[in-house]
Amino acid sequence: MRIEDEVKLDFKDVLLRPKRSSLNSRSQVNLIRDFTFRNSGHKWSGIPIMAANMDTIGTFEMFYELKKESLFTCLHKHYDILQLNEFCRSLGDSDFDYFALSTGTSENDFNKIKTVIRQNPKVSFVCVDVANGYSVHFSDFVKKIRDEFPKITIIAGNVVTAEMTEQLILDGADIVKIGIGPGSVCTTRIQTGVGYPQLSAIIECADAAHGLKGHIIGDGGCVCPGDVAKAFGGGADFVMLGGMLSGHDECTGAIIEKDGKKYKEYYGMSSQKAMERYNGGLAHYRSSEGREVKVPYRGPVENTIRDILGGVRSTCTYVGAARLKGLSRRTTFLKVHSQFNSSLID
Ligand code: 5GP
Repeated sequence: MRIEDEVKLDFKDVLLRPKRSSLNSRSQVNLIRDFTFRNSGHKWSGIPIMAANMDTIGTFEMFYELKKESLFTCLHKHYDILQLNEFCRSLGDSDFDYFALSTGTSENDFNKIKTVIRQNPKVSFVCVDVANGYSVHFSDFVKKIRDEFPKITIIAGNVVTAEMTEQLILDGADIVKIGIGPGSVCTTRIQTGVGYPQLSAIIECADAAHGLKGHIIGDGGCVCPGDVAKAFGGGADFVMLGGMLSGHDECTGAIIEKDGKKYKEYYGMSSQKAMERYNGGLAHYRSSEGREVKVPYRGPVENTIRDILGGVRSTCTYVGAARLKGLSRRTTFLKVHSQFNSSLID
């Protein structure tokens, strides 16, 4: 047994220090980033905020809204081949830069993703997603996708440590997804005791990835625009959101009315509900690692997107970054015991 003494940080443990700036207005801030991905060689330009590949969030409807602002959607993996073919056929060439197909790591998953990419050769991104990215099987699967599709940009995760981030990049991933346990409907930390405070995971994994010219996604744990800014400040190239995009028209599921209020459902992909929906129930050897919740209905997602982008632009003006690219370089985190005054919040 070993104990690491260094305290690791979550978003709530820090604030960003303001810095002298020549920017007069948020409108002067450019949130577009240009990346060239290490293994695919693909050049990408857009606002690097992503909808999570959860079946309530990573929907075609979410993609149509998010791409209007050059944001990205990781589609959930439960669309079938016919639905994906029909979707791809309806797109223009530039649309293929704003979504990823998602896949698990079974033989069936491999055959499905191979079929869809062969039938839709403009697909540019694949997200290989498992709850625990530390297995040899997962590394081997990433290598297999890289061998089969040299030009595809591969997103792979989730992991939370520098050495595994490097390993996945060397296996062929372009973008490594970072986060174990921070999600709003995640119970992994309760069920297993495993996890890593998300801001420290981002800082350490970004450093490792950037050393190899790879990229990372900070996935999970953002509850407000300030957290998104802190993730970018810590070095995340992309930030992935689930809970912050839940409850909207573009999310799967009907509006539920209760006591005169409107809600939509949001649940973890490892929750009992998701297992029942897609795997015929929870296998006897495992427990649920996700929650099911009802979130207040919030109408169209475009207002929320505007709110998030406005917040991040404002962060950039406070620290003097004219472009999102410069935010991390201009970031000094202050460790704090209290983040904001909550006395009048009910
Ligand atoms: P949020 O933005 O809601 O805090 O986090 C979204 C992320 O939570 C997803 O992108 C995914 O990585 C993670 N997640 C989604 N469903 C589950 C689940 O059932 N269990 C766990 N442990 N994590 C989940």
